[in-house]
Amino acid sequence: MINIDTIRSQFPILDRRVYGRPLVYLDNTATSQTPRRVVEAIEQMYFNTKANVHRGVHTLSQEATDLQEHTRERVARYINAESTEEIIFTRGTTEAINLVAASYGNFLENGDEIILTVMEHHANIVPWQLLQRNKRLSIKVVPINERGELRLDVYRSLFTERTRFVAVTHVSNVLGTVNPVKEIIAEAHRHGVPVLVDGAQASPHLKIDVRDLDADFYAFSAHKMYGPTGVGVLYGRRSLLQSMPPYQGGGEMIGHVSFEKTTFAELPFKFEAGTPDFVGIAAFAKALDFIEETGMENIAAHEHELLEYATERMMEIDGMRIFGTAPGKSAVISFLIGHAHHYDTGMLLDKLGVAVRTGHHCAQPLMTALGIEGTVRASFAVYNTRDEVDAFIAALHRIAPMLQ
Ligand SMILES: *Cc1c(COP(=O)(O)O)cnc(C)c1O
Repeated sequence: MINIDTIRSQFPILDRRVYGRPLVYLDNTATSQTPRRVVEAIEQMYFNTKANVHRGVHTLSQEATDLQEHTRERVARYINAESTEEIIFTRGTTEAINLVAASYGNFLENGDEIILTVMEHHANIVPWQLLQRNKRLSIKVVPINERGELRLDVYRSLFTERTRFVAVTHVSNVLGTVNPVKEIIAEAHRHGVPVLVDGAQASPHLKIDVRDLDADFYAFSAHKMYGPTGVGVLYGRRSLLQSMPPYQGGGEMIGHVSFEKTTFAELPFKFEAGTPDFVGIAAFAKALDFIEETGMENIAAHEHELLEYATERMMEIDGMRIFGTAPGKSAVISFLIGHAHHYDTGMLLDKLGVAVRTGHHCAQPLMTALGIEGTVRASFAVYNTRDEVDAFIAALHRIAPMLQ
């Protein structure tokens, strides 16, 4: 069990007001708030230890390097990677996926096929489409059923001898569906095809074990898991990363540079060109501390309770339509009230202090499949309360008559 007051006291932003009302922050799927210890770690680093990593003999540089590499070890343990060589720091999930598409993409040839799903975030669609500028690649798409679950029967039928890659989200940022990625990966491996998992929405809510999943690549962002902005992680299976060419060129990723021939650094540095956000990376360890102290099972149980309660209460509203009803879904509720525009609903909720997201949520193909242009999305984190759900429901009751 968690003590919600102790948790909330670590997030100063939750005390602020919007239009004179207490903030009810239900936009956690876009970014979560940050506990004091993470912000303090950033401040401490700027005040005490700011020096570029891996380059200096001096004390500050060594301390900064140790802090960055400490986070790498923490992340490796957190997702049960075999080695820190498999943990590459990026700017976020988006850059992690672009890295794989650009680098692994070199191995793809005209006529090869990639399997994606209809519920992918644009970050897991567009990098694959960019490869189509130079090669004739076809992209096949797994559809969903009426509950918002992937059609695994269709998925299995999409494999041919030209299938070269599968990229799939672990948890949908719109529907909340938790995809059976272990099964999806096992099926791809039967065909000798590697799989990238977009873990941006899973890493804040589920225990991740890349070895149990047998994932080839797993991408996620610190800012969605109580960490700082500007930091992401790409996990990659060592043998694959070793075979792949560098993504960007620059400092840090080289062995030796001459105009005749340049050699590249060992993993993971081969994929980390330039100065990384070492301050953010160092502070990310504190977010992992927060999650581990609170306990992922406790976080998941609390969010699940809020999800059930909010879903039940939302159905009191006339014309309520909820998109995504898969059993065991994550704490994300996408909805529309009758034919009211998502933007109007979101704007009125904001006036009542409730922060939700509106629009296509970077998943336009999914919106098209659902036959809508966008939704309103409420999503929960460990610091949200039943009282906040009540405030959200009261606000919905107030605005629904204005929208019909
Ligand atoms: C947020 C999100 C991304 C992109 O993450 P960034 O931190 O913006 O790079 C990718 N996929 C999913 C499912 C997301 O929710």
